Amino acid sequence: MKIFCIGRNYAEHAKELKNDIPTKPLIFMKPPTALLLDNKPFYYPDFTKNLHHEVEVVLRVCKNGKQIQPAFASKYYDKIALGIDFTARDLQDALKSKGQPWEIAKGFDSSAVLSDFFDISKFDISNIHFHLTKNGQTVQKGTTQDLIFNFDTLICYISKFFTLQQGDLIYTGTPAGVGAVQIGDVLEGFLEEQSAFRCAIK
Ligand code: ZN
Repeated sequence: MKIFCIGRNYAEHAKELKNDIPTKPLIFMKPPTALLLDNKPFYYPDFTKNLHHEVEVVLRVCKNGKQIQPAFASKYYDKIALGIDFTARDLQDALKSKGQPWEIAKGFDSSAVLSDFFDISKFDISNIHFHLTKNGQTVQKGTTQDLIFNFDTLICYISKFFTLQQGDLIYTGTPAGVGAVQIGDVLEGFLEEQSAFRCAIK
C-alpha cells in the first residue's frame, strides 16, 4: 500500500508558506508506518520543535491502474476519508532551503492521521466542505471547490509515474490555516460538519 500526498494544492495555503502556485501537482509519499488510525493519540516526537497540522481530504484507490485517462479517472476511487498530514515544519524548512527531499519532515511514524472511510457517492466531490478544530476552535476550513488539481487530475497525473493499486491513499492537500500543535492539544476533523476523527497530542 502506498500513501501519496499532494503539496500546495490550495492557492491560499501555497501563499501562506510563501510558495509559488504550482503548474503541476507536487507529489511526495509517506510509508505505511506513517498511518495513525482509530483516533489514537499522537506522541509529539523529540526531533521537532514546530509540528504543524495539515487537514486533508483523502482518496482511497479502489482498483489497479496505470496511465489512467481523464474519462476513466473517477472509476479509480470509491471512498474518501479525512486525515492530517503532520509536518515537522522546522525540518522541512531546513530541507527545502537546501533543495533536499522532505521524507524525515513528512513521513515519520504516525504522521498520517486517517479517519474511517465514507462512500464517495454521499458527497458532491466538487464541493466537499471540511474543517479542523484545535481545542474546540476552528483552525482550518476548506472546500474541494478550491483544489488547484481536482481528484481526477491527481489520479491521471500520479498514475503516469506510479501504478495505482487498490488500497493506495492520496492525501489531496491542505487549505490555509496550518499551524503548530502542542502537547495537550486535541484536534478534531469534520467532513460536512460530521466529526470524522479526533487526535490528542501527548
Ligand atoms: Zn499536506
